[in-house]
Amino acid sequence: MKTIDAENFKGKRVIVRVDFNVPMKDGVVTDDTRIRKAIPTIKKLVEDGARVILMSHLGRPSGNGFEQDYSLEAAAVKLSNLIGRPVLYSNEIAGEGTIDKIAGMNDGDILVIENLRFDAREKKNDEAFASELASLADAYVNDAFGTAHRAHASTAGIARYLPAYAGYLLENEVKTITGMLDNPKKPFVAVLGGSKVSDKIKVIENLLDKADTIVIGGAMCFTFLKAQGAEIGSSLVEEDWVERCKEMLAKAKEIDTTLLLPVDVVCAEKIEAGVPVKVCNAFAIDSNLMGLDIGPKSIENYKKAIAEAKSVFWNGPMGVFEIDEFAAGTKAVAEALAENEEAETIIGGGDSVAAVNKFGLADKMTFISTGGGASMELVQGDVLPGVAALG
Ligand code: ADP
Ligand code: MG
Repeated sequence: MKTIDAENFKGKRVIVRVDFNVPMKDGVVTDDTRIRKAIPTIKKLVEDGARVILMSHLGRPSGNGFEQDYSLEAAAVKLSNLIGRPVLYSNEIAGEGTIDKIAGMNDGDILVIENLRFDAREKKNDEAFASELASLADAYVNDAFGTAHRAHASTAGIARYLPAYAGYLLENEVKTITGMLDNPKKPFVAVLGGSKVSDKIKVIENLLDKADTIVIGGAMCFTFLKAQGAEIGSSLVEEDWVERCKEMLAKAKEIDTTLLLPVDVVCAEKIEAGVPVKVCNAFAIDSNLMGLDIGPKSIENYKKAIAEAKSVFWNGPMGVFEIDEFAAGTKAVAEALAENEEAETIIGGGDSVAAVNKFGLADKMTFISTGGGASMELVQGDVLPGVAALG
């Protein structure tokens, strides 16, 4: 993977795939985190004296042309405010207007072109579209880690036509996550939760022989508990995956990886704020109740495992943390990570990151991945098309 540090881009037209897929309300960006994350790469190129052309997707437009609701103009305005210099904007992707604007750019200028997904060919990784994008520039940089697991024209196809480089954000994400997988500081503890075993099965399998301990919570613990013969009441379970969980439990034992499951569970009749809650033995949940968080004894066990770790990877909340009654397990895990100052702590996955932010602990973590799907695909051992294209 060649990175932008390998080059000085003075006078070059550089087209950069960024992730400006930001939340918007009434035409205003409501969370500019993703724009901020792209700034180090943009700055380096501007300081080199490149002519920087930024492209991104935003939301889910129909793919039949411009739609005001999904325009990147507001993102261009936001970037201009954040970076403290003018940012040009074109209301089309690679048409005449964009070509004219690029022709008028000076060294160090920045241009944002329109939402790539206004053209249905983007997601199809269409050859002609990729070559149209490439024709706008002399070099290509991918800094959109969040879409690196997709083979689209702007993340994969375009790299066939131009010298291709990784931006700082993408480089940092890939190096941090693969570094953790290839050479973790031991003991390495993986804390895995969230809603579905089926979503995370490859993650668990890939971590099984890399981690010393795997701590399991969230709805997916019930499929594991069921595999051990527990009575799980009306908790969420994926019957089709019970066998696979049995196999993983056996494999863990065989290779001496500790797989920790909850011993107690906070239960209720339904997922709702204000309902009566009861702590049940994880192996004997009342038939009318569902497990919605790990219980106090489990919290103690999990905190102990995390406190002893030298590196921790966390994906997936321990319970329905969005509701206060079921947030204690997730909060305790977040605090345990924050308190282990010696350990390298890496958080991946949309809801886990939201949880860390909700508890105000983000700045206590070593690394918070910006890519939900992309980071999980890396952790499960897949090669990301957007990264492979830079090879
Ligand atoms: P991430 O986005 O971090 O990868 P997931 O999307 O897999 O995490 O799962 C997050 C969701 O799982 C949250 O919305 C949370 O409410 C839900 N969840 C966690 N534990 C339970 C549970 N015991 N029962 C039902 N839903 C749960
Ligand atoms: Mg999620």
